[in-house]
Amino acid sequence: MFSLAGKKALVAGVANDQSIAWGCASALHAQGAELAITYLNEKAEPHVRPLAERLDAPIIAPLDVGDDAQLDTLFAQIEERWGTLDVLIHAIAFCAKEDLHGRVIDCSRDGFALAMDISVHSFLRMISKAEPLMPDGGTCMTVTFYGSEKVVEHYNIMGPVKAALESVTRYAAAELGPKGISVHALSPGPLATRAASGIGHFDELMARNAERAPTGQLATIDDVGAYAAFLASAEAGNITGAVHPIDGGYHITG
Ligand code: NAD
Repeated sequence: MFSLAGKKALVAGVANDQSIAWGCASALHAQGAELAITYLNEKAEPHVRPLAERLDAPIIAPLDVGDDAQLDTLFAQIEERWGTLDVLIHAIAFCAKEDLHGRVIDCSRDGFALAMDISVHSFLRMISKAEPLMPDGGTCMTVTFYGSEKVVEHYNIMGPVKAALESVTRYAAAELGPKGISVHALSPGPLATRAASGIGHFDELMARNAERAPTGQLATIDDVGAYAAFLASAEAGNITGAVHPIDGGYHITG
């Protein structure tokens, strides 16, 4: 079995113990990685800090990716404490409700820019901050959804947003491959998380996925975590640039 012993990983996007980021953080920790875990703001901190402490994370810090100063402070803290970084996990998305619930063609200009900034450009900002801390290579991952390539009812503007996220993943992978830094997009099937609760008729989406997935099962955050832990390992170093479905095979039948 691969090991992540000695690896340093930054995981952004834990809101609670149902978060995909929590599944990833737990799996990375189980394989021996040391963690930096972020929380969105003061309101989120009491939910995230105890989880991060459970994984003995030496760095627990605020991060609103809309705030450049916080990003600078976080990476300065990582550099000071660890010197280098091996793994970056970005499990963050945001879209204002009125834009998420409307038709794609009606999405507001500001809402489009905000969703793209928090859900896509923030990944680039984090990768570019991580790059100098990965002199011997590393792994960067984000989290996408199948609504990027197929029209999934009620996923609305997040479909095009995830399409952009997958595209930046490919370009970043091409640019950073020569430095030994791999870039991936994990693509789980629908999971009952807080972010997902903002999507209309999400229960129906989950039921359809479970029914049509060849395994007959929805993905879990542990499935995503196990996959992320493998991608973070040295053994996965020659894999990059892909969108990885973790969905019980729904993408071949859905
Ligand atoms: P979640 O609500 O647990 O996580 C979303 C995270 O985004 C939260 O921790 C939230 O604090 C963070 N976030 C939002 N705005 C932020 C900002 N400005 N700065 C920093 N963090 C911010 O839900 P989740 O489902 O675990 O979402 C994680 C990722 O997985 C998202 O990109 C989501 O689109 C993606 N995803 C979710 C599903 C699903 O069905 N739940 C499926 C595929 C992909």
